[in-house]
Parts: sequence; structure tokens; C-alpha cells
Amino acid sequence: MGIPATPHPTHGLVVIQPLKHRRCSACRRGPLSLLVLENGAPRCLDCADLGHLVLLPRGDTALTRRSREESALSAVVVRFNRRKGRYERQGVLVEEAALVRAEERCLADAEARRQRRARDARRRGVEDERFAAAFAAEILRLFPGCPAERARAIAAHASVRGSGRVGRSAAGRALSEGAVVSAVVAGVRHADTPYDQLLMSGVPRHEARRRIAPAVEGVLRTWQETGEEDAG
Ligand SMILES: [Zn+2]
Repeated sequence: MGIPATPHPTHGLVVIQPLKHRRCSACRRGPLSLLVLENGAPRCLDCADLGHLVLLPRGDTALTRRSREESALSAVVVRFNRRKGRYERQGVLVEEAALVRAEERCLADAEARRQRRARDARRRGVEDERFAAAFAAEILRLFPGCPAERARAIAAHASVRGSGRVGRSAAGRALSEGAVVSAVVAGVRHADTPYDQLLMSGVPRHEARRRIAPAVEGVLRTWQETGEEDAG
């Protein structure tokens, strides 16, 4: 048996990837990797006036659709699947210039998506900065004696996006007093006490926290006082 007579019921040009060795009935060239059936007779692409087209394998839906839109002449490439008893699309033949234009359109889309991602990232950056500024302001409201630079550092550390630190928790977002105090305590613990050294020297965490608790309390008390009361 040869190739079934009707490879594709749809409109448009159909090019076949033959399963058997076939020769062109016009120029006798062969075996053909691609052929067109004209009145049941195989023709090579050159004899069918399709030799200038290039094959775009299936897989990229957007590129395929655009290539066919851009191409004055195009053909669907099919191959017969014996097991399934039907022809299956392998790709399309399109003009090379059309494929180039379609690729440029797809790249432009990718570039547009990249620019949108960059815009989103900038917007998130602005949101992060606003959040950190609000957080720092709340620290200074609760701890007026806290140096502004320390407040900014603690707020920035606490509000790093996606870090899961207190600033990104629901409570931190709402700038609840508890969340702000927790962030300040953590900042003081690491910066103003030997907490980190204790941990590094093998002191258990709860024991280290117990030892530095008075130092943390002292710093918080100082920061809770306003500048005027700080004399002496
Ligand atoms: Zn031929």
C-alpha cells in the first residue's frame, strides 16, 4: 500500500513526510523527504513550486501562527501514523522572510514581557521603600531616643521582601506595636549586646537571651526616653 489518498480534510496546501522511499513523478528525484500529492502522484517541493519554503517544526504555537500570517504561501506538513491510522501535523512550511518577521514579533513580545517584569520590580521596590519608611517612623514614635539611622536599618532589615522576617508578617504589615518592638529587640540583640558572640561560643540560645536581657532592656529604656530627658 502507498500513501492514503486523502492526507488532510482541511483547506490549504498539505505536504507529506513519506514513510516509504518515494520519487518525484516529474523529475524522478528521490527518495523525497517531503512531497506533495498531485492527482495521487508524488511531486518534490521544487516541482510543486514550494522549494523556497522552510520547515518550522511544530511546538511553538505563537511562532507557527504568526509565520503563517506573515507568509503569502504556506503548507502544513503531515506524516501518517500507522498505529493511530491518521495523519499528524509535523510543522509548517513558510517563507523564510515570514519566519524571520514572526520571530521578531515573538521576540518583541518577550521584550515587552521583560519590560513589564522590570516595571513590576521597580514598583515593588518603591512599595518596599515606603513600607520601610513607615516602619522606621513607627520605631521612632515608640522609641524617640533611637538614632534615626538605627531605626532605618532595623526597618529595612525587618521589611526585606519575602524574607519571612517580622516586617513581612501580617502583624508587621499592619505596623502593630508588637511587631515593631520585636524588630527593635532583634536589632538591639544583635547590634548592642554580645548575643551573637555568645551563640558562636556555644551558649544555648535561651541561655544567651537570658544573659543579654538586661542589656536589651537598658537600651530600650534609653530609646523610649525622649532626647530632652537624656541629659545626665
Ligand atoms: Zn521534482
